[in-house]
Formats: sequence, structure tokens, C-alpha cells
Amino acid sequence: MLEFAEKSCLIRIDTSKCDSCESKACADACKKYARGLLGIDDQGRASITHRSDDEVLRLGTECLACEFACKFRGKDAIRIEVPVSGLDEYLKKRSLA
Ligand code: SF4
Repeated sequence: MLEFAEKSCLIRIDTSKCDSCESKACADACKKYARGLLGIDDQGRASITHRSDDEVLRLGTECLACEFACKFRGKDAIRIEVPVSGLDEYLKKRSLA
């Protein structure tokens, strides 16, 4: 399991699923729609080991492209959590919770 944080979101990748993934679509999407933060390591798994901690924070655009690419062209291994401060209270106030 690979887990890392960008400025306001948390990314979890079940890298055991990468072994059977032929597309490696996450890295292509990250390069195409963002800044190429996510890469593929020499074992064929999604990785950020080629980046420093500072680069992870600086290059992350929170675009969610890797999650969509993996869901539709990979093995659905990526989950991104984007906490929204005050959302629970808002939904409760509007009787939507
Ligand atoms: S697309 Fe998904 S399953 Fe494929 S290498 Fe990337 S994270 Fe792993």
C-alpha cells in the first residue's frame, strides 16, 4: 500500500493490484493532466519514490486524474480522500445528512 498526502488530500494506492495492470494509466494521466508526480517503479508499481517530500507537495495538483485513469483503464487501485471542512455540519443544517 502506498499512501501519501498532497496539500489538502490523501492518496492511497493498493500497489498489489499494479502487478496485473497492463496500462499503467495512472502515470500517463498524471503526466498528461498534471505535473508527472506519479511514476512507475522498476517493479511496475505506482510510485513516488523518484520524488522528494517537497516535490510531492509542490507538484501535486489534486486533479484526481490518476484515480479516474486507474478506475477505467487500470485495476481500480487508487482512492483519494478530499476532506471538506464544515461539510458534515452544512449537510446536517440542511437536513441532508
Ligand atoms: S493504473 Fe492503477 S493498477 Fe495500474 S499501475 Fe497505476 S495505480 Fe497501479
